[in-house]
Amino acid sequence: MKLSKIERLKLQLRPQEYYKRIESLDPTKITDADRFYLKNFGIYNTKLRPEEFMLRIRIPAGRIQKEQLRFIVALAKSHGASILVTARAQMELHRLKFSEAVAIHKKLLEHDIATFATLTDNIRNIVTDVADGLEGMEVYHIIDEIDRFATDCKLLGMIPRKFNTAIVGVTRSVESYFTNDAFFALARKDGVEGFNLYLGGKNSHFAQDADIFVLPAQVPKMFEAIIKTYQKYGLRQNRTRSRLFHLLEEIGLEEFKNRLKEYYSDWESAGEYLLQKERPWSMKRYEKGVLHRYETRFGEIEVGELERLLDFEAEIRFGIDQNIYLLAQKELGIGKKPREILVCAGEKYCIYSLFDTKQEAWRLPLQRIEKLGVRVGYSGCLKGCGRHIAADIGLVGIRTNLFGEVERGVRFYLGGLYSTGELPARLIFWAVPLRCLRKVIEIVLDEYERSEAEDFESFSKTLLALTPKQLAYHILRRFVGEESELSSLPGEIEDVELKELEQRAFS
Ligand code: SF4
Repeated sequence: MKLSKIERLKLQLRPQEYYKRIESLDPTKITDADRFYLKNFGIYNTKLRPEEFMLRIRIPAGRIQKEQLRFIVALAKSHGASILVTARAQMELHRLKFSEAVAIHKKLLEHDIATFATLTDNIRNIVTDVADGLEGMEVYHIIDEIDRFATDCKLLGMIPRKFNTAIVGVTRSVESYFTNDAFFALARKDGVEGFNLYLGGKNSHFAQDADIFVLPAQVPKMFEAIIKTYQKYGLRQNRTRSRLFHLLEEIGLEEFKNRLKEYYSDWESAGEYLLQKERPWSMKRYEKGVLHRYETRFGEIEVGELERLLDFEAEIRFGIDQNIYLLAQKELGIGKKPREILVCAGEKYCIYSLFDTKQEAWRLPLQRIEKLGVRVGYSGCLKGCGRHIAADIGLVGIRTNLFGEVERGVRFYLGGLYSTGELPARLIFWAVPLRCLRKVIEIVLDEYERSEAEDFESFSKTLLALTPKQLAYHILRRFVGEESELSSLPGEIEDVELKELEQRAFS
């Protein structure tokens, strides 16, 4: 069995053993191997931008003490770093020099703030709902316990690939958690509350129902068992086929469960799933206080804004929607209509992005998207950090020459049933040029409004009677100004006819 290059590196030198070398590294001579090792400590750099470094900060459950956040903000300010809030409720400091990234990493550690295991083959920041502990069952203490196991030096960088986890104890959530490798969702069995387990999610696939129920006290043991099983049996030959998803694809879920029993077997079959969909909100009252949503600019936020947020008498939490939440005893007057658009880092911060997704997101019909409460996921490439499959409308950056000169465009996805993890958004168009995107979205929104469905996911359920080809045909007919009704679309649509229509619309 031929191991991938990274796996061979790990065998020669474990990331834990590499750590002491960091301070003596010459930043002008950083190799690909160094880049892999540095990622285990949250330090990111690429060959394409060799002088620029990023530091990713771990914020388990999105909860951070104000003094810690104040310290991070002060460091960002003194080093002129730009700040991003990520879709896993973490912070990133960008535009650092190597020496700055290392110095900040060390200073953060002294304040009990970790940057370990935030990149590459690690148990990544464990997420939950921002209302954790305000209703339902609080899971913060469980996440805290697992986080210690996750950042344990012996394990650092040694699992086959990254591993994302969500543990959610609230009964209502705006978010979807099915793109995690492991998702523990609040459930009830025989009158007792615990968690149903879903396994093998990633940004392009939803996790499968493992038909496993565990009690809250069993979650850390179950989690460790999953990681040990993945560590022992995970695929290590090809980096593009190493996620838990691929192991489940290879051996099947039942066989994985058999192997899991080598480490832990105290579980029952799944209970009743208790997590309900919540409508987007900007402020919500709970017994323990008022939770406010402060909207970042698709993850971007200025030092000054964070300083102002820190002035409020409020607990600060980070959400997986790239926004910041403040829990206060009274209304703070900072809420505005929620916008459910998740946008990946994009060209400014990520070399894989085909364009600046954050800038392009401003060109979407934002007011209507907000008004109608439609969820959009915007990824700059197929790695899918914008979680485009867990969205009503999903977009993935591409380049295309299908309609003339090479230009920027998106793959266009529609209609995910993400609240229950039933169905990822379906691919409707391989390529929509960016210059046509707004109109395509307006057509979809018109159709949704006409449907008078309760919400977009209900509308998406009605669309399931139609194939992606029929939906593409309908949108294109509307795009070129021709009559079309969803209720009377032709059953068979020839590829040639669809292509011709596409050329008329997008050329
Ligand atoms: S989706 Fe692609 S471009 Fe966007 S942040 Fe992820 S890897 Fe980068």
